[in-house]
Amino acid sequence: MCGIIGYISQEKGVSKKIIHNLKKLEYRGYDSSGICLLKGNTFLVKKSVGEIAKLEQKLNFVDDFDCGIAHTRWATHGKVSLKNTHPHLSQDKCWAVVHNGIIENFLELSKLIKSKGVTLKSETDTETIVALMALQNGDDNIKKLNEVTSMLVGSYAICLLHKGEHALYVARRHSPLYIAKNDNSCMVSSDPVTFGEDYGTYYTLPDDCMAKVTVDKIDVYDKNLNKICVKPSEVGSFEKSAELGKYSFYAEKEISEIPKVIDTILSNYKIVDHFKKINKTFYSQIKKVKLIGCGTAYHACLMGAKYIQNYAHIEAQGYIASEFRYSKPLIDKNTLCIFVSQSGETADTLLSLELAKNMGAKTVAVVNVPYSSIAQKADVVLPLCAGMEVAVMSTKAYNAMLLVLMLLASHLSKFTESPQQFDYDVLKSVDFFKDVQKIDPITDLVLKSEKVFFIGRGEDYVTALEAGLKLKEITYINCVSIPSGELKHGTLSLVDNKSLVFMIATDKNLLAKNISSASEIKARGGKIVLVTNLDEIQSGDIDYVYQFDKITQKFSSIISIIPFQVLAYKTCLRLGYSPDKPRNLAKSVTVE
Ligand code: GLU
Repeated sequence: MCGIIGYISQEKGVSKKIIHNLKKLEYRGYDSSGICLLKGNTFLVKKSVGEIAKLEQKLNFVDDFDCGIAHTRWATHGKVSLKNTHPHLSQDKCWAVVHNGIIENFLELSKLIKSKGVTLKSETDTETIVALMALQNGDDNIKKLNEVTSMLVGSYAICLLHKGEHALYVARRHSPLYIAKNDNSCMVSSDPVTFGEDYGTYYTLPDDCMAKVTVDKIDVYDKNLNKICVKPSEVGSFEKSAELGKYSFYAEKEISEIPKVIDTILSNYKIVDHFKKINKTFYSQIKKVKLIGCGTAYHACLMGAKYIQNYAHIEAQGYIASEFRYSKPLIDKNTLCIFVSQSGETADTLLSLELAKNMGAKTVAVVNVPYSSIAQKADVVLPLCAGMEVAVMSTKAYNAMLLVLMLLASHLSKFTESPQQFDYDVLKSVDFFKDVQKIDPITDLVLKSEKVFFIGRGEDYVTALEAGLKLKEITYINCVSIPSGELKHGTLSLVDNKSLVFMIATDKNLLAKNISSASEIKARGGKIVLVTNLDEIQSGDIDYVYQFDKITQKFSSIISIIPFQVLAYKTCLRLGYSPDKPRNLAKSVTVE
């Protein structure tokens, strides 16, 4: 969600580099973009609504500037318009700012600013930052920045330019910001994925800290204005894994990578003992487990809770992070809280992690981005090893989350009286995309229906939830996911001859119950697609059976979602929408 690039160089012509790297942040989602270039006392500001390509056209790359900041905005305060697009300048035109996040007390700050005779031009919370900077007295800009950030409530990553100075000023709280340096330039970015081409290492700006960045050095300060030392991190293969290659869309590429991701996780967890800290003593102190996430990660939490309860016999429950935070959760040192997030920056999940830590819980992060804030703050990190995921619709990361949570559940089971040893190698021989071409006629059924439902029981209900999310987020088709047993408690009233019901059935023991749900639907005129890997289907009530590859019951939840990921992708293409960048959504949700 939203992105920042700041770039300072010994050489002129920085706009090309800035735009090139701003484009690498496109995947995070944005609605407008802008750039401010600086040379001595001259600012050049260009903004555009929509694609970065439009900004590029306006800019036309005629520049002899050696410093600049740029932004992709995902509007939170003030509509999507040129006026609200960042960068914002102070009224005296001495400061320019780009900002990610939300300044929660901006109304109060706006009043204060206006009382000093300053006019604010935009509707954004961001403009208050630059106005406050201009209102500070003195010559020490780091001191001014500290003064201003101490007035801000909320989350921010900010990058500022000051007229007449060849420097970038940066600060952050809860929103990520990174800085990289080589011999003749420095780059500030909200995602290290931009560093791969030109830098070998980078620094993570610590929370509640600031920095002055020049071509020669990076000076980092804490909120007491003490200079602090930050250790560099290597730019690793993860940051370099965002190439589209032969694929037309990232969604297609990422679905096709699922078998490789499964393989990588299995090899990685064999070589590296990620569970080292989760030993017998750790286990013996756990009385209950809470799994916390948002969206797809929340669905992984629901599934993970089932794995942990079934295999490790500890009470486990999944929670939506934005609900969890305000639910006055009962947490103590005997609670294990597991935070699941692809990006590792999901604001509600991150803040839930902080809450749980403050209440003394043991914390585990299940994240894909190794350098993310959630990974840095948890006691134990279980990496997803999925490589960078660019499409907004999460696919391979979900399969990875399930496998990692299953590995954790089976590890925890070792300390019980009935340890679960799984033959994970079975997963290597699965045909993940078996009969995938048979999804085309199902796409026709979806397009012909007015209402789409996903139903299942147990683990299959969780798959139904995730399948529904996949379809709605990229095709904009309104659909409902419910447990099969809940149909007749309300939702069955919606079912008619324009309805299509996907029934997921992977558990032999629940098959008879599912078949009776199918009869209920059929009797109301609904069409039924059964998605299963069981053979024993004998029912005239089912219109279409999609059979994915046989795999032991234990692993079927990792595989059964794949046909639905493919279905969403194919339906989206048929409708002519973009599978990678659905409207109104962003890849990493860094605001609450
Ligand atoms: N809250 C700011 C705005 O609405 C920043 C949004 C963002 O992070 O892109 O302009």
